[in-house]
Amino acid sequence: CGIVGYIGQEDTKEILLNGLEKLEYRGYDSAGIATLNNDGVQVTKVKGRIASLREAVDENVKATLGIGHTRWATHGVPSKENAHPHQSTSGRFTIVHNGVIENYVDVRDEYLNGIEFKSETDTEIIVQLIEVLNTELNDVASAFRKAVELLTGSYAIALIDRENEDTIYVAKNKSPLLVGIGDDFNVVASDSMAALHVTDQFLELMDKETVIVRRDGVEIQKLDGTSVEREPFMAELDT
Ligand code: GLU
Repeated sequence: CGIVGYIGQEDTKEILLNGLEKLEYRGYDSAGIATLNNDGVQVTKVKGRIASLREAVDENVKATLGIGHTRWATHGVPSKENAHPHQSTSGRFTIVHNGVIENYVDVRDEYLNGIEFKSETDTEIIVQLIEVLNTELNDVASAFRKAVELLTGSYAIALIDRENEDTIYVAKNKSPLLVGIGDDFNVVASDSMAALHVTDQFLELMDKETVIVRRDGVEIQKLDGTSVEREPFMAELDT
């Protein structure tokens, strides 16, 4: 299982599908991508192979921002409905997640009363929570940090906001996640293998840090909102 994300100048579909293929070795039961352009968010997901995902993706849709996922089911059977990306009820927020949210029942009972869920996953709790917190805080970065503060368990997550074509929000806790740095693009991946075809510069992330990833730069933030400076390292292909 793994996640990938791209924000830049090029059409994102091929970069995401390529990245997911490089993560195939980790094992998975389903896969999906979400892209964002002026027309909104396009979600494509399948139970089964990346090759089937490739066939299902609409070639005509162009977007320069997107996230992708290979799933190894822990909560909810392998199915198209439970495959990621998952969306909040309004469709504004879209997320991919690797790992397990341990307190998802508590979070659901405390914050998400009355919400109708579309999947059986612990992941949907995260994206619904972010929507609720954003309604309250009226700032997506703050809502994202608050969600990270409330959730326990292991996760690597990447989130996109339909109303912002300039940002991918990412965070990790006890699951691997790297941000790859490019000149006029940036990428996100569980493993540098998934992004070495576009960059060899990567930022390491600490648990519970959040990162605001834009085309022209990235900002690492601690839970209190303060920024962290960190130099990228160079990753090399093992041969
Ligand atoms: N717990 C999530 C699910 O079952 C994510 C699994 C994964 O890491 O792929 O959908």
